[in-house]
Amino acid sequence: MQYLTILGATGSIGVSTLDVLARHPEQYSVYALSAHSRVAELAAQCLQFRPQRAVVGTADAALELTRLLRGQGVDTQVEYGVDALCAIASAPQVTGVMAAIVGAAGLAPTLAAARAGKKVLLANKEALVMSGQLFIDAVHDNGAVLLPIDSEHNAIFQCMPHAHGRAPGAAGVAKIVLTASGGPFLTRDVETLDAVTPDQACKHPTWAMGRKISVDSATMMNKGLEVIEAHWLFGAPAEQIEVLIHPQSVIHSMVSYIDGSVLAQLGNPDMRTPIAHALAYPRRIASGVAQLDLAQVATLQFERPDFRRFPCLALAFDALRAGGTAPALLNAANEVAVQAFLDERIGFRHIDRVIAHVIETVPHGAASSIEAVMEQDRLARAAAQAYIAQRLAA
Ligand code: NAD
Ligand code: MG
Repeated sequence: MQYLTILGATGSIGVSTLDVLARHPEQYSVYALSAHSRVAELAAQCLQFRPQRAVVGTADAALELTRLLRGQGVDTQVEYGVDALCAIASAPQVTGVMAAIVGAAGLAPTLAAARAGKKVLLANKEALVMSGQLFIDAVHDNGAVLLPIDSEHNAIFQCMPHAHGRAPGAAGVAKIVLTASGGPFLTRDVETLDAVTPDQACKHPTWAMGRKISVDSATMMNKGLEVIEAHWLFGAPAEQIEVLIHPQSVIHSMVSYIDGSVLAQLGNPDMRTPIAHALAYPRRIASGVAQLDLAQVATLQFERPDFRRFPCLALAFDALRAGGTAPALLNAANEVAVQAFLDERIGFRHIDRVIAHVIETVPHGAASSIEAVMEQDRLARAAAQAYIAQRLAA
């Protein structure tokens, strides 16, 4: 029996994870669930999965969740705050942690899981982008196992010659090819992007996801973050990572070898496949995803990304090459800009301007400690907020 903590249980990845777990109750038991503010949804999940512990964002939310649970006769222990998130990620009973909180808020608990030597199922790419080598070191120093949930990285992991996929150069890997759908604005006239609304940006052509990652997909910052994520997960330099637009989202990524072979992982665009893969690794379990029907898909298309259409992708490659805390600055500025766009305070084409401004004005340094990374995260957020307030906000 595996005992799992799901961080971000009410989100898109959290819900898909619980869907897979519910298919295999004899193998998986839920130890703890977390949600930030969606208390009613979390209460329903607790009623179904009966975790020992549940964590929410605030004292008020904890009171409300307790009231809902006791009313249903559920005795799940309710806690709140970051320390409680770290506690459910590192408790001795836990074998695996699904890290599916969105953004930098997920760093502390995800790191706590790595430091406690857990099997870490990583969806929260922002945590790895920010902390890079520090996170990888925490995994290795504490005997944790890091399994990628992001569909591209899960695909690459499956196409790598040996478990855990480190040191691709030594394994005869020529390059890693990350596929990207191109998002909802792949073919739209760039000059009309100023006018797009949050709902238009969140209407992804092939994947149903949370709002932040949906906007990231529309700007292609999502792919930029994934390039950095691939660098850390597979030890590949920026020159060995290529992005290829593939609108059907059937090939989830590829690995090219020096002998000319290319291995790809294919499947319907449904996150339950990578989730099931990582949960059961190295075995396989049913995920509820329909078998891929290639005859029905019929056509697979590919094109190179246009960096002028997607300036965020170029900014991310630059941050990876700059190294140190540059990716943490990029990530923090992006989080602030995307939230401002979702709140309709800035336009879609302001997002890359905010990030470029922060990268230009906040000097990056060495990522020598988590504290140093968090300090840069704070500085970047303040610079992004000030720029938005003074220069962009309507
Ligand atoms: P979502 O917005 O649907 O869910 C986010 C979850 O995090 C919710 O449970 C929410 O309660 C929790 N949360 C939000 N802010 C929090 C905070 N400050 N403190 C604690 N918890 C907080 O997001 P999602 O689409 O499920 O994405 C989650 C993560 O997985 C992101 O990092 C995303 O990039 C990554 N990811 C998602 C997908 C996808 O298909 N949705 C695919 C690949 C990677
Ligand atoms: Mg992805």
